[in-house]
Formats: sequence, C-alpha cells, structure tokens
Amino acid sequence: MDLTYTPEEEEFRARLRTWLAGVLPELPPKPSPRDWPARRAYDLGWQRMLYDAGYAGLHWPVDAGGRGATPTQHLIYLEETEKAGAPYVGANFVGLLHAGPTIASEGSAGQRARWLPPVLRGEEVWCQGFSEPDAGSDLAALRTRAWRDGDDYVVSGSKIWTSHAEVADWCELLVRTDPAARKHRGITWLAMPMDAPGITVRPLRTLAGSTEFAEVFLDEVRVPVANRVGAENDGWRVTMVTLSYERGTAFVGEVVACRRVLSEVAREARKNGRWDDAVLRRRLGRLNAEFRALWRLTQWNVSEAQSAGGVPGAGGSVFKLRYSHARQELYDAAAEVLGPESLDLGREWTLDRLSSLSYTIAAGTSQIQRNIVAERILGLPRGR
Ligand SMILES: Cc1cc2nc3c(=O)[nH]c(=O)nc-3n(C[C@H](O)[C@H](O)[C@H](O)COP(=O)(O)OP(=O)(O)OC[C@H]3O[C@@H](n4cnc5c(N)ncnc54)[C@H](O)[C@@H]3O)c2cc1C
Repeated sequence: MDLTYTPEEEEFRARLRTWLAGVLPELPPKPSPRDWPARRAYDLGWQRMLYDAGYAGLHWPVDAGGRGATPTQHLIYLEETEKAGAPYVGANFVGLLHAGPTIASEGSAGQRARWLPPVLRGEEVWCQGFSEPDAGSDLAALRTRAWRDGDDYVVSGSKIWTSHAEVADWCELLVRTDPAARKHRGITWLAMPMDAPGITVRPLRTLAGSTEFAEVFLDEVRVPVANRVGAENDGWRVTMVTLSYERGTAFVGEVVACRRVLSEVAREARKNGRWDDAVLRRRLGRLNAEFRALWRLTQWNVSEAQSAGGVPGAGGSVFKLRYSHARQELYDAAAEVLGPESLDLGREWTLDRLSSLSYTIAAGTSQIQRNIVAERILGLPRGR
C-alpha cells in the first residue's frame, strides 16, 4: 500500500484548507450538548455549508448524491477538517456515517433518491434503533415485532440508548418479522419516520447532563413496506453492513481531533508546570504514538475496504477497540494536567472525559470487538 499523496491530492488538500480558513472564523460557537434541538440546527447548518461548497458526501457514490472522491481524498478531508477544528458531524452521525452508507450499498434506486440527498444537504437527521433492553451485544435477540398489514408493517416493542432520537426525522430500525425462525434469520431492516403515530421518545440524561440518547417505545407504529431495505427476514445481513460502517469508519475522523486535543494538553502542561513531570511527558508521548498508529491503521482499513468493494471489514474492530481505549487514556491524561480544575463541568475536556467512558460500550463493547478479532481475523475457535 502506498501511503504518500499525489500532487492532485495535495492540491485538493490546499483548496480545502483555504476554504476552511475562510469559513471557520465566521461560525458561531457550538451550542451546549445539553441542548440537542439547538445542536441539531447547528450541525445541519454546518452540513449545508459543506454541501454548498461541494464537500458533502465526498466519498459517496455519485448516483447516491455523493462526489465519488477517492478514499484518500476522503482521508485528507477528515484530516484537514479535524485539524482545523471544524464542527464534528454531531446529530448527523448516523445518517452520514452508517445509515446513509447502508442505504447507498443496500437500498433500491428509489430509496437512495429519497433518503440520501436530504442527509447530504443537512435537511434530515437519522437515529439508530437497534439496541433493546435485553438485546445489546446479543443484538439478534431483539424482540420488537413487526407484522404485515396490507402495504404496511405494524411495529410494537421498545428500543433503548437511541442516540439523537429526540431530534431525529428517521430511524434505522431492526424488527423481528419471523418469530419462528432462528434468531438471526427473522430480522428485517426498516427506515421508520420518527413522526409516525405510536412512537414515544423518553430522553435519558447522561452523567454530563445531556439528553443525548433516549428510550423509544413503539405502539403499533405503521411503517410502509416500501421502507424496507433488503428483503424481509434478510435484515441481519443488512445489519452487518451497517455495523461494519459504524465500527470500521464512523469514528476515524475523531482520531485527528484527539491528536489536536493531545497537543492542547501538552501546551497546557507546559503552561502550568506539569510538563516537568517526566512520567506525564512519557504518557503523552505514548499517546501521540498511539494516535499516529491509529491514523495509519485507518489508512490501511480504508484502502482494504476499497479493494473489497467498499464495505469495511473486521479490521474496523481493531480500530474501534484501540481507539476507544486511547480516547479514555487521553482524557485521563488531560484530567491529570488540569488537576482539580478537571472537575469543573463547564470545561469541555471534563464533559469529553465523561463521554469518553461510553466509547468502549457504544457501537459494540470492547469484549465483543475482541471476540470479532479473535474469530474473524485470528481464526481462533468460537467461544459460544
Ligand atoms: C453513548 C452510547 C450511545 C449508544 N447509541 C446507540 C444508538 O444510537 N442506537 C442503538 O441501537 N444502541 C446504542 N447504544 C447501545 C450500545 O450499542 C449497547 O450498549 C452495546 O451494544 C452493549 O449492549 P448492552 O448495553 O446491552 O450490554 P450487554 O450486552 O448486556 O453487555 C454487558 C457486558 O457483558 C459483556 N458481554 C456480553 N456478551 C458478551 C460475549 N458474548 N462475550 C464477551 N463479553 C460479552 C459486554 O461486553 C459488557 O461488558 C449506545 C450505547 C452508548 C453507551
């Protein structure tokens, strides 16, 4: 694999850098994570700016509304936007990073035309209704039922930990359509409009005071059969596509953001005298090496995915595993540098430290990622 950039790619980088330098100083400050309706408006506004400038859906296929850019250009985009401190995808996370790519890969032409452009234009927000109270790691144990009634599925059950449900327009929803089939076989992937009658969203408050996720209760919600992505009862296969995007590529841009935070932590340590501590310096140095290695791993995963037809493979689990732990270590180091100030909930690093705790759980726990690495990459025997 060649990890150097061509002159065209460097030219693309320079153009993007100039655009970012022009627009970022004009952006208003990001609303607090305690106010998701305001965050939604902010995140959609930024997405619209990217769309207008030709940077939305950069690596999505052209017939899915994207720009058909090379994976390398996409990596340059991630590198430059994160380095420049551009807003993170936020409320657009699910739509842009895994529901959208799943529809681009598995949806019909009509579904692509209906759902993808509004995601790219910053008009619609998606959430993910996969987890249930007894179906998290064991996702195929899900019990939310859907039965056919004419041209609709009628859906009843409940979901939990649904991020951004409070502000979402659409939900990528997993339902059980054949309760008699073996558990992986009777599942279907649906796009559910969040304003359909019968949906109740009850926000959950996190440690940091944010209502980032919610419980979602579904009481005979009608979802058109036309909203099914893939065949009925073939939802597990479609879900594997969604999860491979979620674990494989959805977090990659954040690595560069972590490198930026790491430099800020080092700067703060130099300012407040903590830099004199050789043990702390070594810790920051090790983190620096870790984030650099993770970025190289990202490049490798993206190039492997490209040669395997676009969908990321099990290498994403190595990334997810290492990244989520490195992120926690970064904010622990930041807390050490800040000392007692690290308890101030008004500080961004404090909130980020609290939220970093969830990264080893969300999108599949570390134990599950280790199982995937053991079974699918190392070829070890299945443990269950
Ligand atoms: C911040 C955040 C956002 C989230 N957003 C969403 C969302 O938008 N949509 C959504 O659908 N879900 C979401 N989730 C849910 C998340 O996907 C689940 O929490 C996760 O899959 C773990 O499932 P669980 O909580 O049921 O834990 P469990 O599956 O009950 O696991 C409990 C413990 O047992 C371990 N364990 C379980 N099975 C095995 C096994 N076979 N081998 C080894 N260890 C095992 C786990 O690793 C874990 O340590 C979110 C979670 C968080 C924290």
